[in-house]
Amino acid sequence: MTRLALAAAPPKSGWDIHCHTVYSDGTQTPASLVELSRHIGLHGASISDHDTTSGWADAEAAAREEGMRLLRGTEITACDGPVSVHMLAYQYNPNDRHTSDLFARTRQARLKRTKAMVARLGEDYPISWQSVLEQVHEGERTTIGRPHIADALVAAGVYRTRSEAFADAVSATSKYYIPTPSPTTHEVLAAVAAAGGVVIIAHPGAVNRNVTLLSDSQIETLIEEGLDGLEVWHRDNPPQQRERLYAIAQAHQLLVTGGSDWHGAGKPNHLGENLTDDETVAEIVRRGAISLV
Ligand code: AMP
Ligand code: FE
Ligand code: FE
Ligand code: ZN
Repeated sequence: MTRLALAAAPPKSGWDIHCHTVYSDGTQTPASLVELSRHIGLHGASISDHDTTSGWADAEAAAREEGMRLLRGTEITACDGPVSVHMLAYQYNPNDRHTSDLFARTRQARLKRTKAMVARLGEDYPISWQSVLEQVHEGERTTIGRPHIADALVAAGVYRTRSEAFADAVSATSKYYIPTPSPTTHEVLAAVAAAGGVVIIAHPGAVNRNVTLLSDSQIETLIEEGLDGLEVWHRDNPPQQRERLYAIAQAHQLLVTGGSDWHGAGKPNHLGENLTDDETVAEIVRRGAISLV
């Protein structure tokens, strides 16, 4: 077997551009994200909540106040055939109708399926839709999903942590699971491109998240459609996947990014544990439709 060239080492300093807040399934506010990023010495950060731009304004205000640099992004839920895919979209016009409609549809679909999952779970566990809503920090502005069900199960004393719930009743392999109908990767790429944004596939080698990963040819099709890059430096991409993804990025001159996927107390991931270098961030800003905060 020919061995791929060893992937270049992840950057030791730079930006954390994959971070969640209370506007999706993170437990901290956008202001805490900005403050903590400055505190630990990041060059900058990006907010990247699931399927929404709701937290952008708070993050911008905090970045201006703290004198911290900020990219604005969203982690978009998509599918490519049977593969569930997360796409990080950066620096696009937040007033673009097509992307806002797409997010509104996904959030509605998530809400419907999350309610249906709670109804199923409620037959066996002491939770209700009301107790799940109690775990949602920003009401209708928050993208609701399985993490909030997990938090309700923790509040009810069924599990000790969100991760424990994800390993059991809330898991994608449990009998209570219902998938979220999502737009295709091709639709998402086209929508974000039209809104002037930059698209990076999040954790494309996350073997523990997906039974099947995107194949090289699926990724290559997306490259032909204008994909900008791959999130290589992410804890869910094992070493072999990083090597594979880095080689694809090199062959097609894609951007290589890294991010922690920080969720505050919602996941063990530490802010800044994976980074994107300054040059790559500068290129994202150059390609994007909006200015750096
Ligand atoms: P959903 O999109 O509603 O199916 O929920 C999936 C979300 O749950 C992902 O975006 C993750 O952020 C979160 N998640 C997945 N696995 C875990 C875990 N083990 N612990 C905490 N959060 C998780
Ligand atoms: Fe999440
Ligand atoms: Fe993700
Ligand atoms: Zn994420």
